[in-house]
Amino acid sequence: MDYKIPRGTYDILPQQSYKWQKVIDAFRKIAAVCGYQEITTPVFEQASLFERSSGESSDVVKKEMYRFQDQKGREFALRPEGTAPVVRSYVENRLDLGGSNTKLFYIGPMFRYDRPQAGRYRQFYQYGIEFIGSDNPYFDAEVISILWNYLTGLGLRRLRLELNSVGCPQCSTAYDTALRNYFQPSLADLCPDCQLRFGQKPRRLLDCKVPSCKQIAAYAPSQLEYLDDACKVHFSAVQDNLGLMQIPFTINPRIVRGLDYYTNTAFEIVYEGLGAQNSLAGGGRYNGLIEQIGGKSIPAIGFAGGFERLLLALDEEEVELGAPGVPDVYVITLGEAAQKLVLPYLNALRGAGIYAEFDPDKASFKAQLKAADHSQARFALIVGEDEVAANQVTLKNLQSGEQQTLPLEPSDRIIQLLKA
Ligand SMILES: [Zn+2]
Ligand SMILES: [Zn+2]
Repeated sequence: MDYKIPRGTYDILPQQSYKWQKVIDAFRKIAAVCGYQEITTPVFEQASLFERSSGESSDVVKKEMYRFQDQKGREFALRPEGTAPVVRSYVENRLDLGGSNTKLFYIGPMFRYDRPQAGRYRQFYQYGIEFIGSDNPYFDAEVISILWNYLTGLGLRRLRLELNSVGCPQCSTAYDTALRNYFQPSLADLCPDCQLRFGQKPRRLLDCKVPSCKQIAAYAPSQLEYLDDACKVHFSAVQDNLGLMQIPFTINPRIVRGLDYYTNTAFEIVYEGLGAQNSLAGGGRYNGLIEQIGGKSIPAIGFAGGFERLLLALDEEEVELGAPGVPDVYVITLGEAAQKLVLPYLNALRGAGIYAEFDPDKASFKAQLKAADHSQARFALIVGEDEVAANQVTLKNLQSGEQQTLPLEPSDRIIQLLKA
């Protein structure tokens, strides 16, 4: 074949779609019961939005962003993540002027030029929550609870919630200094990326995947030792709230998140059955981001997760996500007169929300009955020569074999039977 799908992307084929619908519907439901409303932004934005928010030295911006120029030479990027676009829309549409909290969720594709591997793609689908408007630690717990309830509600059990605080700009300055002191003696042994990170954002050194860097970073000081009093109080209140909600968590001081805009609470949910790519979702507070991209100084917190790994985890845990839809009724006709009689009927059934299959290319009664069986339809609606003569239809229950004859009109009776 001449054409191939781009590397790192995939088709969601018809026989997989029902699984996607199931996890997407479940996310919409859990977001709705917590008062979150859906927001949909374009898949591309000005490239500078991401440079500004994620940080120009972040891997996402430096290595992974799909950039392009439009016909007029303007710089755009396919969105590598969902938070900056939502915040851009929040500021642009002046949602920041109301003074009340704004609760948003989104679902959609993101793009990163990354090395494809199991559960990691160049076009991937994310679900996410953004809560904007308050620094109250209750909302940290609320946002985390949505993610926790979503994943456990789908049937996942081997989950681990890992929690950290990355502090505010004041305490992270102290921490950066501590990290520089720690890494200084081994500077020459770090990878070239980390040597740059050392000067720019030393905490990114903790995130490096190069084995020798990992080894050097193993005993680096913990962020938590450098929190100031206000950040300590906030962090412990988040933990209290999670405790009251009976959501189990462990503290992991190594959660740094790849993007620059996080402050205070950072968290991740890990699925224990997935090997190296085991992070299902993560997020944190970003109290400085809104001001950074032109809005007022408003605190916020959110998370994002990928559907690909979620589906892998559900598979691993053997969670049954239902099945593709099967017809309520398969319509079988013999001869042209029967088909004429049945078409208005077929349309009325579908209009009433009944999934009805019909295939006039299958001429013989036997072929149609076989197709009906194969489709797993609950009923067959049969109109043969006898039925035409008597102005009747035969309704056959394909599971029990029971059948009954019914007058063709009115159709309500049959619709009732099929809906029951
Ligand atoms: Zn602080
Ligand atoms: Zn490194």
